Amino acid sequence: MARRPMGGEEGGEDAVEEKEGEILTPEEQQAAAEKKKKRNQKKRARAKKKKAAAKALVWEKAATLSCGRESRLVSKGNLGKGELLWGTNEYYLSVLYTSHCGTHCGACYAEMGASKRWSCPVCKSFSLCEKCDKAEVKEWHEHECGLFCGVPVGMRQGDTDYLRFVCRFFAICCHGAPPASLPGSRLLSPTPELDEVFKLRGRGKSRTDIRFLDCLSTNEELQSEDFRSWCSNFAQLFERHVKFPAGYTVSDLADLLMRIRTNGLGFPCSDKHGTLGWSLDLYASFLDHSCSPNCEVTMDDGGKLLVRTLTDIQDGSPLLISYVDVESRTPKERRDHLFELYRFRCSCERCESGK
Ligand SMILES: [Zn+2]
Ligand SMILES: [Zn+2]
Ligand SMILES: [Zn+2]
Repeated sequence: MARRPMGGEEGGEDAVEEKEGEILTPEEQQAAAEKKKKRNQKKRARAKKKKAAAKALVWEKAATLSCGRESRLVSKGNLGKGELLWGTNEYYLSVLYTSHCGTHCGACYAEMGASKRWSCPVCKSFSLCEKCDKAEVKEWHEHECGLFCGVPVGMRQGDTDYLRFVCRFFAICCHGAPPASLPGSRLLSPTPELDEVFKLRGRGKSRTDIRFLDCLSTNEELQSEDFRSWCSNFAQLFERHVKFPAGYTVSDLADLLMRIRTNGLGFPCSDKHGTLGWSLDLYASFLDHSCSPNCEVTMDDGGKLLVRTLTDIQDGSPLLISYVDVESRTPKERRDHLFELYRFRCSCERCESGK
C-alpha cells in the first residue's frame, strides 16, 4: 500500500497526487506536503478575497458628501468596525512614482518581477504585467504616451510624476475613459452630489464633465510662492507643446497641479513597498485627515482602492483617514510634515491635546 505524505487527506481538491503502488521517498513526501500547503494558502486567499468582494458596499450607500465650502465625506447610517466601504478603481486618477515605473505594472500596480511582459519603447515609463498585457490597454496608453513625448526632453527628465499625471488626465478628457482594466474609467462621471459641491464652490454649473476635479480645493493661499510659480511655469510650458482639452486653460492646469498636491492620496500602495504612487479620487479625496483616523485606505491585488472602517462610526460622523504615519513621528514632526505636503494645519483632537 502506498504511504501517504504527512498530513495528506484523501480525495478532494487538496489530496496530494499519488500513483497506485508508488512509494514516496522522504524528500518526495516533503515536496508533496509543501505543495499542498501552498495550495491551501492560495485557496484561503481566494476565499478571503471573495468574502471581501461580497461585503463591498457601494460608497454612496455608506457615505455621503456633505456639501459646502469644506465638503467632506460623512457616514450614512451607523457603520461597524472593519467594514469595507469602497472597493473600485473606477473613480481615481493615479500614476506610479517615477522610481516604480519599471518594476510595477502601470495598469494593476502589482510588482512584476518575472511576470513583466511589456515595456513601452517610446516613453519608457509604462510597463505591463502578464495579466494586463492587452491590446486595448496599449492602444489607450498611446494617447498619454503621445502627450508625454510631445513635451521638451528636459521636462521628461528626472521625476515625471506630475507630468504623467497630467498626461493621463488630458488623455482621459480628450479620448474618453480608459479600458476597465486601467483605473479611472468613471472618473468623469458626474454625480448630483459632486454637481452640488461644484455649484457651492461658486463655479456655476459645470461646463463639461472634465470640471469635476475642480471640486477639490487648491489651498492656493497656503501654497509656497515657489510651488505656485512652478505650477504656473509648468502649465505655460505644457501649453506650448500640447493641445489642451476644449475649455481647459493654462490657469486651470496650474490649479490642477495644486489640487494634486493638496488632495493627492498616497495611493496605490503595497505592503512591501509602502506608497507606490499617488492619485486623486472623486470620492476618497474628500476623506479628511485625522491623526486618530476612523478609516484607512488600502489596495487589493487588482489595484483597487479600498476604504475600510477602523472603528465603529456613528451616523453622520465624518470619515477620516490619516495622511501620515502617525506613530513614527513626534507630534511636531507630524504637523510640520502635514503642512509641508498638504498645506494645512492639523487641528484634530489628538493634535489639540498635544499628543
Ligand atoms: Zn498588471
Ligand atoms: Zn509610452
Ligand atoms: Zn492631527
